[in-house]
Amino acid sequence: MSDYIIFQDVDRCIGCYSCEIHCKANKKLPDGPRLCRIYQFGPKLVDKVPRMAFSFLACFHCEKPWCVSACPSKAMQKRPKDGIVYVEAEKCIGCKLCLYACPWGVPQFIQEDCVAVKCDLCKDRIDQGLQPACVTKCITGCLQFGRRELMPEEQVRRYELLATP
Ligand code: SF4
Ligand code: SF4
Ligand code: SF4
Repeated sequence: MSDYIIFQDVDRCIGCYSCEIHCKANKKLPDGPRLCRIYQFGPKLVDKVPRMAFSFLACFHCEKPWCVSACPSKAMQKRPKDGIVYVEAEKCIGCKLCLYACPWGVPQFIQEDCVAVKCDLCKDRIDQGLQPACVTKCITGCLQFGRRELMPEEQVRRYELLATP
């Protein structure tokens, strides 16, 4: 797992999709690929009250990333200094093996360029001391980003549970 995590406080998410939209805008992605996703659950009546929930999914930057192991051209890589998993587009041969290898279907594909693309935790922004694009535009502040060792223990425990397929 990378040195950083993005934790979602589900109770504060209103399903506005700002995170998805700003991620796409920041990476200048065409129609189709989404590097993070909001999954909607419900609406469902619970004790006669309609309930909905929204769950944020990006990449878990796994300790032993299936996508990296599957990549035949070493385009999918894990950054040694902090464990961020990213694609080096110039090396990608467009075989899509990373898409099939990830248990959560995280890697996406840009058809026009025939390359895989995925969440890189906005490493360019992190390297400048900034927060990931999705986190900065979360209007309720339900997305929290930080170094794993500095996040509350309970958040890290829940994140690690989610990251176990
Ligand atoms: S793309 Fe999937 S397998 Fe690869 S690091 Fe992210 S969650 Fe893990
Ligand atoms: S699509 Fe690209 S990044 Fe994915 S496994 Fe194939 S060569 Fe590697
Ligand atoms: S960390 Fe960056 S690349 Fe990853 S989902 Fe958020 S905005 Fe997109």
